[in-house]
Amino acid sequence: MSAAIDFNAMDDETFRAEARSFFESEYPAELRFMAGRLSWAESKPWWMKLSKKGWLAPNWPVEHGGMGLDPGKLIIYWEETERAGIGRMPDQGVTMVGPTLIRFGNDAQRAKYLPKILAGENVWCQGYSEPNAGSDLASLRTEAVLDGDEYVINGSKIWTSMAHHATNIYVLVRTDKSVKQQRGISFLLVDMKTPGITFRTIRNIAGHEEFCQVFFDNVRTHKDNLVGKLNEGWTIAKGLLTFERLNIGSPRRPLQAFEQLDTLAHARKLFDDAGFVDRYTQLKMDLNDLGSLYQRYVEKVRRGEALGPDISMLKVFAMDTYQKLAELLLESGAEYGAFAEGVKLEGEAVDLMTPFYTSRPGTIYGGSNEIQRNILSKYVLQLPAA
Ligand SMILES: Cc1cc2nc3c(=O)[nH]c(=O)nc-3n(C[C@H](O)[C@H](O)[C@H](O)COP(=O)(O)OP(=O)(O)OC[C@H]3O[C@@H](n4cnc5c(N)ncnc54)[C@H](O)[C@@H]3O)c2cc1C
Repeated sequence: MSAAIDFNAMDDETFRAEARSFFESEYPAELRFMAGRLSWAESKPWWMKLSKKGWLAPNWPVEHGGMGLDPGKLIIYWEETERAGIGRMPDQGVTMVGPTLIRFGNDAQRAKYLPKILAGENVWCQGYSEPNAGSDLASLRTEAVLDGDEYVINGSKIWTSMAHHATNIYVLVRTDKSVKQQRGISFLLVDMKTPGITFRTIRNIAGHEEFCQVFFDNVRTHKDNLVGKLNEGWTIAKGLLTFERLNIGSPRRPLQAFEQLDTLAHARKLFDDAGFVDRYTQLKMDLNDLGSLYQRYVEKVRRGEALGPDISMLKVFAMDTYQKLAELLLESGAEYGAFAEGVKLEGEAVDLMTPFYTSRPGTIYGGSNEIQRNILSKYVLQLPAA
């Protein structure tokens, strides 16, 4: 099995070529560049193919069944995934639960849960946000009280991506109301089939049932499912966010939208319109700047340097640029902009809606753009707080 290969010893271009060839030849053509996230039924064959090859968990250490990629190689893996248009699977088990248990969990939890993620038996979702706790997550109110050997959970989570496909959920719960908000939060693992859990699906702007509101009514989970120490869940939850912002800040998706814009402009002869050319040129320059900024952070990661709060700048710039591109694409498509499945213009296929749909949520999840700007003003520019 190729998990035994030391990918980090390969030179970057050899690794990139291997990843590209595997993704291009093996990933199903009909699931490329999808507007929404993939359901578990759509994802499972690809999940199992990656798992069999030992490529499902690029970010996990080899001893836990991952590829053990160093940050530089991990970035290449992501870039090739994006390049091939591979859809987002219900991947919380790989991206969040695995790394969390490896770093903060105990041996029993790792032995119980990690193999089931790799085998596609457990599909995880993330229960952080609540109806009144999103940006201000630390104010969350779903609570857990220890009763014998079990925690009893009551409350509700919202925007829980793919909860209706998940077998398990990891939740942030309040376990001490008497201390500063951040100090009274714990991290629990819960089976979605536990009595007392119900959910309702929520439809997104593209018409897909992407998330749920999940309700907890006296839901019991064994105290062995507490990850890390009691009341230290906040540290765990914050642990992986900085690296996530580098991933969200990749210029790949804005670049793909720009390629669509280019095709559209040629097909509709938009380069004769000075107003269009003005916006097109500005966005092209923004894209170049975004590419340079992203590369600066990639190089930092490759040198083994930690990413600071200024990474928020990359997320804001990437998502703003992507939204502006998506809007210009939709406007310039005129009446063709209303076709959700893509259209053919003078023989060229263009999909005007997908960038619009995928660029909106990027300014909200992973910390909204306003929150990123607050981080920049407070920790980077050190402006006085309002
Ligand atoms: C596609 C998608 C998938 C998601 N998946 C999950 C998931 O799987 N699990 C999960 O737990 N959550 C998930 N979320 C929820 C996401 O984390 C929250 O939507 C996000 O944290 C914002 O919280 P909110 O929706 O409550 O908005 P609010 O926090 O109420 O914010 C509303 C608006 O006010 C602004 N705002 C808020 N506070 C400030 C401030 N201090 N200064 C300036 N402006 C401010 C915000 O930027 C925003 O524009 C998902 C969201 C999306 C869009």
